[in-house]
Amino acid sequence: MLLDRRTAIGGLGAAAITAAAGAQLVGNRGGRKLGYAIVGLGYYATRQIMPQFANCTHSRLTALVSGTPEKLEKFGAEYKIPVASRYSYADFDRIRDNPDVDIVYVVLPNSMHAEYTIRAARAGKHVLCEKPMAISSAECEAMIAACRAAGRKLMIGYRSHFEPHNIEAMRLARTGAIGKRRYVQSEHGFSAGDPKQWRLKRALSGGGSMMDIGIYSVQALRYMAGEEPIAVTATEHTDRNDPRFREVEDRIAWSFLYPSGLIGQGLSSYSSHHNHIRLTGDNGWIDLEPGTGYDGHRMIVRRGWDAPQDIKPPPGPGKNQFAAQLDHLAISALENREPIVAGAEGLQDLRLIEAIYRSAKEGRTIRL
Ligand code: NAD
Repeated sequence: MLLDRRTAIGGLGAAAITAAAGAQLVGNRGGRKLGYAIVGLGYYATRQIMPQFANCTHSRLTALVSGTPEKLEKFGAEYKIPVASRYSYADFDRIRDNPDVDIVYVVLPNSMHAEYTIRAARAGKHVLCEKPMAISSAECEAMIAACRAAGRKLMIGYRSHFEPHNIEAMRLARTGAIGKRRYVQSEHGFSAGDPKQWRLKRALSGGGSMMDIGIYSVQALRYMAGEEPIAVTATEHTDRNDPRFREVEDRIAWSFLYPSGLIGQGLSSYSSHHNHIRLTGDNGWIDLEPGTGYDGHRMIVRRGWDAPQDIKPPPGPGKNQFAAQLDHLAISALENREPIVAGAEGLQDLRLIEAIYRSAKEGRTIRL
């Protein structure tokens, strides 16, 4: 169980420790690179992830999976992927016969994550799956079971665990730099655009802002708290006359209560911009804004009554959070170790999101 593993290696700063350890080990493997197949050639895959293989030490792009032949042609040529390693969704299962593919990275709409993770595991491949891991905790459990049965690693695309400011914030929180943790906040949101996009269709997204962006608040509250919540109380507001919100929710605010007495406050929004994490202890605070962006992170720390300081964290485990994330799963597979953000992390977030939805719907506190 996740909590046991984390307790055993000293709390939520485990991410930092293991990621740093991963970085140190890079030089010992002769630069051996595991092959990735990317499934779903949309914005995140093509604009953020695929260019990062150039910055990796243990990962290379070796196959592409898409329903659009023109995309396979275009990106296949750009990344020199042989025609035999370009797959449609229908012939995806043939990937089992491709020795150049060690890891399948699922970057599809949320409701497709479970199916492609399970098919990849059955094809004998390790899996990196984008957030949210799936659209229900039951699907998450099935994905974990499929990867376990196949003896393959499963990691969720929680890139903040590889980002230096977040790693340093977790370390400072864990080592008591701001005293005993008392109050943790995280807000994430953006204004959703085109009402026709898949993110606003429940069948594909599984929900509204919570599934897409609020999940960053859930994650941040967990990794800054260093403990798991025992109760949640949530409030939702959605304007159902807004054409974007016919099927999914807009804003949800919630509070978590933790066993130590720490109180957490989260926000998820599809109609306002937020990207913030703040942990207040009994002797200071840590503030990250933006906290979980692609770049441009900023961290301010106040210890006791000292003036707040702009903190520049030590470099993270790779060239950047994206490359470090790709290499972390490759290293985990090579070393036969659990990734620091394994399936259990995604499952716990989905369980909490389900409790948040239930609390908002039933208008009461849910005990966890
Ligand atoms: P996108 O719409 O740009 O890409 C989705 C891809 O899925 C497209 O190539 C599309 O053709 C394909 N697809 C296959 N079947 C589809 C269907 N039935 N309907 C719609 N598209 C279909 O989306 P994206 O922003 O790249 O998001 C993909 C996944 O990545 C999501 O799960 C999202 O949460 C995640 N994501 C993660 C981050 C991060 O920072 N970790 C950032 C963005 C997106």
